Amino acid sequence: MNRLLRTTALSLASVLLAVPFAARAQSTLTPAEQKIRETIDRSREDQIKYLERVVNIPSSTLNLAGVRKVGAAFRASFDSLGFETKWVVLPEATQRAGHLVAEHKGKPGAVRILMIGHVDTVVEPDGPNWVRTDSMAKGVGSNDMKGGDVIILYALKALQAAGTLKDMNITIVFTGDEEHPGDPISVTRKDLIDAAKRNDIALAYEGGNRFDATTARRGASSWRVTATGRQAHSAGVFGSAGYGAIYELARIVNEFRVQLVGEQYLTFNAAMIVGGTDVEYDTIGIKGSAATKLNIIPKSAIAHGDLRFISEEQKERTRAKMREIVAKHLPGTDAKITFLDEYPAMSPTAGNARILAVYDTSSQALGYGAVRALDPGSRGAGDISFVAPLIDGIDGLGALGTGAHAPEERVNVNSLQMQTERTALLLERLAHQTSASFTRKPASE
Ligand SMILES: [Zn+2]
Repeated sequence: MNRLLRTTALSLASVLLAVPFAARAQSTLTPAEQKIRETIDRSREDQIKYLERVVNIPSSTLNLAGVRKVGAAFRASFDSLGFETKWVVLPEATQRAGHLVAEHKGKPGAVRILMIGHVDTVVEPDGPNWVRTDSMAKGVGSNDMKGGDVIILYALKALQAAGTLKDMNITIVFTGDEEHPGDPISVTRKDLIDAAKRNDIALAYEGGNRFDATTARRGASSWRVTATGRQAHSAGVFGSAGYGAIYELARIVNEFRVQLVGEQYLTFNAAMIVGGTDVEYDTIGIKGSAATKLNIIPKSAIAHGDLRFISEEQKERTRAKMREIVAKHLPGTDAKITFLDEYPAMSPTAGNARILAVYDTSSQALGYGAVRALDPGSRGAGDISFVAPLIDGIDGLGALGTGAHAPEERVNVNSLQMQTERTALLLERLAHQTSASFTRKPASE
């Protein structure tokens, strides 16, 4: 064997040795990762106590003082981890408490990670309401999503104890109005969207599951059709007097169904309809009344519904079709349609799948089994939707529980440990990668 050949053989051997080693590092825990896990296990009761403390501060979205109080508790904790924190005050007119933003600067050039939580709840309990029974605890916000918030906090505490937090670039945004976002969205979601612009990927902590996480979710908007007709004696209907507002509106709503039903992830519920001669409709309260006589061709009719979609392309294409349907009026009638944006879609991307893959191998290395992508049709909108048009990410990394948005909400306190370990390992394995490697790739359909 000549020298060149021997060198080649040697480097081949080292490559062959290196590949299985790298694969092993992914599917089992390194000693450093094992230490992180032990720290999390040791702080288990402490973490549950912390959750009890924040659950016992009532903080429904419009309880501004309560929301700020929960925010202040987390702010102090992130301060003690070396984060630079601020409470974002929203304009008085939005009637919302504001948001907590905490930033940690690590290695320049390393991936920048945005972690999203919220401190408000849907239900307002009377006061302290935490009741623990064995592995479950009842409490408003225990699962959605103060549980997710303490998962973030305790994962970061463990990384600090391991000495690896110092190199990580992490921004935390805990919004104070996720459950009932203030208007306008451009103001109340500005700080979240600005944070996305300074980061490469997003991790969100809405309620989790053992075997899946969210890599895509549908966006939400609303539509409203207002039809008008010529008020006249019913004897003239279909003739010189025209068809009236109700036939025009019925035509439109029926054509929506006939022409648009069946596309995957697209839904458009007709939620409300009101028509007649004297019509009153409250677009905010979504309630209305109508009065007429049976021998009058109605002059006014309104239909109101939602529209859910998996991509901007699907949303815009559907809206164009709906406008086209509306424009083909019956004789003697007119109609117009308006749309209102609520949540953008979180479309499936290659980048989202890549982050899930790291989460999945982390979970398997911890012995918790595989984590797959949740069906995009089965999760409602959330704050990650606002940043999804900008950066890749995954959601559903929070606590396991039941009864979100109801007084009987419960959290599985044992799940906190599993979810905290998975997040800590995910951060540990992502944080060494470069920021540039997470530049968004085009969406995969
Ligand atoms: Zn939530």
